[in-house]
Formats: sequence, C-alpha cells, structure tokens
Amino acid sequence: AKDKGKSAYQRFSPEMSQDSHERLQIESRLRRALELNELKLYYQPIVEAGTGRLVGAEALIRWNNRAMGLVSPDKFIPLAEETGLIIPIGEWVLKTACEDIKQWQKNTGLGLTIAVNVSPRQFRDAGFTNTIDKVLEDSKLDPQYLELEITERLILDNSIETSGIFKHLDDKGVKLSIDDFGTGYSALGYLKSYPFDTLKIDKSFVQDVIESSEDAALVTAIITMAHSLSLKVIAEGVEEAPQLDFLNQHNCDFAQGYYFNRPVPAEEFSLWMSDNLK
Ligand code: C2E
Ligand code: CA
Ligand code: CA
Ligand code: CA
Repeated sequence: AKDKGKSAYQRFSPEMSQDSHERLQIESRLRRALELNELKLYYQPIVEAGTGRLVGAEALIRWNNRAMGLVSPDKFIPLAEETGLIIPIGEWVLKTACEDIKQWQKNTGLGLTIAVNVSPRQFRDAGFTNTIDKVLEDSKLDPQYLELEITERLILDNSIETSGIFKHLDDKGVKLSIDDFGTGYSALGYLKSYPFDTLKIDKSFVQDVIESSEDAALVTAIITMAHSLSLKVIAEGVEEAPQLDFLNQHNCDFAQGYYFNRPVPAEEFSLWMSDNLK
C-alpha cells in the first residue's frame, strides 16, 4: 500500500499537473488563434548566392497571443502537430503565403518563389493534396513557384501513401525541398527515390563553416553530392560575409539568413523588396 501511495504521488505530482495544465491552456489558446487573427506570416528573402539577386522568400509563422506574447514556432508547431491543429493552421499558411507571393510577383514582375514549411502530419493528412490544388487554383499561383519544405523525419516513413503524395505534387509541378539537411536520421537512399528539387543545408553547419574545418568539409561535400544528383542547394543561417564567400567559392546556389534580412512581416518585406530592387 505504501508503494502504491508513492507511485500515485509521483504520477500526480504538483509539478506535472502544472505542466499539463499549462499545455491544455496553450492548446485551447492555439485552438482559437486562427479566429482571433493571432497568427501572422513573416518572410525571409532567399537570394542567389553569387549575385545577391532576390529569388524568393520563406514563410515563417509567428503567434502573437494576448496573454502569452510572442510564442516561438519551435514551441507551438510541435503542439499543433500532436493535436492535429496543424491541419487548419497549415492550410491558412499555404493560402496566405500563396496569395502574398502572387501579389509580389505582380508588383515586381519577377518570378519569385515562396517556400512553405510542411510538417509530417500535415503532409500525410488525407486532404493535403486537395488543399494544395485548391490553394493554387484560388491564388492563381503557377505551381512552379511554390516550394514545399519537408524534413528528413517524413522520409523515414516510406509508405505507399507518402510516395503517392510526392508523385501528385511533382506531376503538378510543385517544387520539393529537403529541409534541415544533415540533421535527420535517414539514410541517403531517399534522395534518388523521391523527386526533390532543392536541398537546404541546415544552419548548424553554416554557422561554423569558417571556424570549423569539419563543418567546412561537410558543407563542401553536401554541395557536391547535391549537384551530382541535380539538386539545387540553399544554405540557411548565413549571418556573415565570410560565410557567404565560402559558400560562393564552393558553388552553393542560394543563400538565406540574417546577413540579408531577418524574417519580417509581409508589409515590411514588401518595403524591403522595393528598396532592394531599385
Ligand atoms: P526552419 O524551417 O529551419 O527555419 C529557419 C529558422 O532559422 C527560422 O526560425 C528563422 O527565423 C531562423 N533563421 C533565419 N536566418 C537565420 C540566421 O541567419 N541565423 C539564425 N541563428 N537563425 C536564422 P523560426 O522562424 O523561429 O522557425 C523555427 C522553425 O519552426 C522552422 O525552422 C520550422 O521548422 C518551423 N516553422 C516555422 N514556420 C512554420 C510553418 O508555417 N509551418 C510549419 N510546419 N513549421 C514552421
Ligand atoms: Ca524551413
Ligand atoms: Ca520536381
Ligand atoms: Ca533549419
């Protein structure tokens, strides 16, 4: 009886109930975030590494809650995935991002690409391909300017369904990008069996490319491998000129990071573009 009492206490310790209470509270707030207009998309430019020419932007979600302030996506995206809220949120992201880039294409006359992060649960949802079709139809965005960023975590499950979705998207002309490359646990074989167009080198490799000869070797090898598989390469997390120089010397195609601009709200991104395209 004594033991039982102890384990019961451990299971319902004040600390734990505090945690789960907080979780439930964040969950119910997240549930209402869409209708309360608390979600916002920020945009970060992606440029041609050699010339600095703007080629597109990555859409990055932000949540500004009345009670909690700004919540980082690293904190609420996992929760949105667990609860399935990522489905309506992801739909909103796709719709908003496609509308915004379509508008900017009109304003600039450029064929800008929008990169959108797609989480595994969202990708595997039965309605995903329909959502993509509908969003493209409604926004009238040419599919080649939509690039979906998918992490290696998704590839681990190489089910028939996943392959079917890849095929649908590829047939449609949507671009597919492998995000956070090098940080997952997958073998490399998937690179030849899935129709990827782009590989994004994770910022953890880019950050130390000047100080660390190991990271420099990895980045160089990743670029060479990607190119021999006909993939374009984007380096994320570029913060300083020497990093960009290194990437250029090693023929990296595109770059993204604070060196060019932080992710900013749509209105500010639009202004940044008019300044930069002068
Ligand atoms: P990610 O896809 O790897 O996005 C890159 C992250 O690096 C972003 O963090 C961006 O703000 C940050 N970053 C950009 N340039 C630099 C730089 O020069 N230095 C450093 N240190 N960081 C830089 P953020 O915006 O906090 O997003 C975190 C993660 O949340 C994203 O990582 C992505 O996995 C996820 N996420 C963001 N928006 C969405 C979304 O709409 N849907 C889904 N499913 N996930 C999203
Ligand atoms: Ca990304
Ligand atoms: Ca393709
Ligand atoms: Ca990353």
